[in-house]
Amino acid sequence: MGARRGHEVIQRLRETPPELWHRGKRVEDPTTEPGLANGVRSLARLYDLQWEEPDVMLFDSPTTGQKVGRSFMIPRTQEELASVGEMMMRWARATFGMMGRAPDYLNRAISAYAGGADFLAEPDPRFGENIRRYHEYMRENDLCLTHTLINPQINRSVGPARQKDPFLAARVKEETDAGIVIRGARMLATLPISDEIMVFPSTLLKSAEEDAPYAFAFAIPNNTPGLRFICRETVDYGRTPYDHPLSARFEEMDAVVIFDDVFVPWERVFLYRDVERCNQAYHATGAVVHMSHQVVCKNIAKTEFLLGLVSMMVDAIGVERFQHIHEKVAEIWVTLQTMKAFRRVAEVDAAPNAYGVMSPAWDPLDAARNLYPRLYPRLIEIVQQIGASGLVAMPTWADVTGPLAEDIMKYYQSARLEARERIPLFRLAWDTALSAFGSRQVLYERFFFGDPVRMAGALFHSHDRSQYMEMVREFLKQTIEEMEQEGASPTAPVPTSGDGAKGGDA
Ligand SMILES: Cc1cc2nc3c(=O)[nH]c(=O)nc-3n(C[C@H](O)[C@H](O)[C@H](O)COP(=O)(O)OP(=O)(O)OC[C@H]3O[C@@H](n4cnc5c(N)ncnc54)[C@H](O)[C@@H]3O)c2cc1C
Repeated sequence: MGARRGHEVIQRLRETPPELWHRGKRVEDPTTEPGLANGVRSLARLYDLQWEEPDVMLFDSPTTGQKVGRSFMIPRTQEELASVGEMMMRWARATFGMMGRAPDYLNRAISAYAGGADFLAEPDPRFGENIRRYHEYMRENDLCLTHTLINPQINRSVGPARQKDPFLAARVKEETDAGIVIRGARMLATLPISDEIMVFPSTLLKSAEEDAPYAFAFAIPNNTPGLRFICRETVDYGRTPYDHPLSARFEEMDAVVIFDDVFVPWERVFLYRDVERCNQAYHATGAVVHMSHQVVCKNIAKTEFLLGLVSMMVDAIGVERFQHIHEKVAEIWVTLQTMKAFRRVAEVDAAPNAYGVMSPAWDPLDAARNLYPRLYPRLIEIVQQIGASGLVAMPTWADVTGPLAEDIMKYYQSARLEARERIPLFRLAWDTALSAFGSRQVLYERFFFGDPVRMAGALFHSHDRSQYMEMVREFLKQTIEEMEQEGASPTAPVPTSGDGAKGGDA
């Protein structure tokens, strides 16, 4: 089949819809369902984009030679890796980074897992073979994934086995010759309007014995019997793109996933009952690195958008001469350059991993994924601080075309924009910084890659800082040596500069 076009994405979703529930009702057809259909259209549009720039977006399949999506590439050279980065930038810019779960995010994950298949094969060669075949299947059919890692937020002070019911968190209920049966729930899965779901290990399993039934990695079609997605309330309220320019386009949706005795055939299982290996899998295969590569591209696109948006707002209302405005715009610009630098250094310093996959440098990407969750809320605060009341004093399309149109055209103009130009600009700013869509984006940025507190903990423990400690230690040693040369001993009081009278005064 090869790389898909948008109409094929829509057709497949219409013909094989997952069991989505929204506002208490089963969604019959996500491609027409109010609140979901616009997101489906934007997703489809990304696939059309592949064919508008095939040289950037596609590459020749290593097995069939047909054109397939570049985000499925397992890069072996720096040039190949950079070409994936370029492809991801095109998709990210198409939604201003507002669909963080564009398919490339998990295409990168599954490609890295396939590249590191030997890691999965160590306990059982079948698992390695399974992931290779699955990656090929996804690539050749250009399918799109969601994923779910986290157990339901019921009682975080104990692990999944010690909840009120051991089947609240998804776990293995039984094992047969043909596969495993899963019962329980996971949260969350963004983009449930996709084709397949990766149910992979979170990195939080603690006890080898107790947590073994929760330790697995598999992928299945979203329409597998017993698999249910309970969607949150949509943030696309069915308004026009004029009124809700982002919400009416880029609602990717998040859902809690219920496994009601879901059967998973062995050929779709990649890790099983191996707590230690589950905890290591994202890092050991390089999946987290390649996913973070997509994330930094998304961050760049999102920050470019914010810089353009805020600059236009400043210009529109004539506040460009105030110093604090300069400072705030500068903050966005610096964030953009920081993200671009992270991406660049990650690609330039890329090196083959243990499996020969060209992998972006991890340190800058780890820095990016830890920093942006802190910066994005601040950038949104800047939109609010500069937009001020302009973010709420915004008429709708119905107002603009209604009986008060004349008043609106007069009183909603700005220093440099007519009302008909200013209103859509500030509606866009409202949808970015104030609407339900905008708030969900902030929450997404804060948490989607994990709890920032525990991510910082992982960073603290995993990056070697000893060379910097050594630098400081050396400097302190020199100081002592200098003092000793002057006749002082470490046990004697160190003379302060001056004659010590100050100390005597105290
Ligand atoms: C919009 C959105 C989209 C998402 N999409 C996906 C997705 O597609 N797939 C997916 O798998 N996940 C997704 N997530 C989930 C995301 O991975 C989690 O939000 C994140 O890992 C944090 O877990 P939690 O939400 O369960 O928070 P909790 O773990 O319940 O944390 C709640 C609070 O308690 C604190 N806390 C809890 N435990 C500890 C601890 N041990 N030490 C210190 N502090 C602690 C946290 O710091 C936090 O302040 C999404 C989240 C959001 C908000």
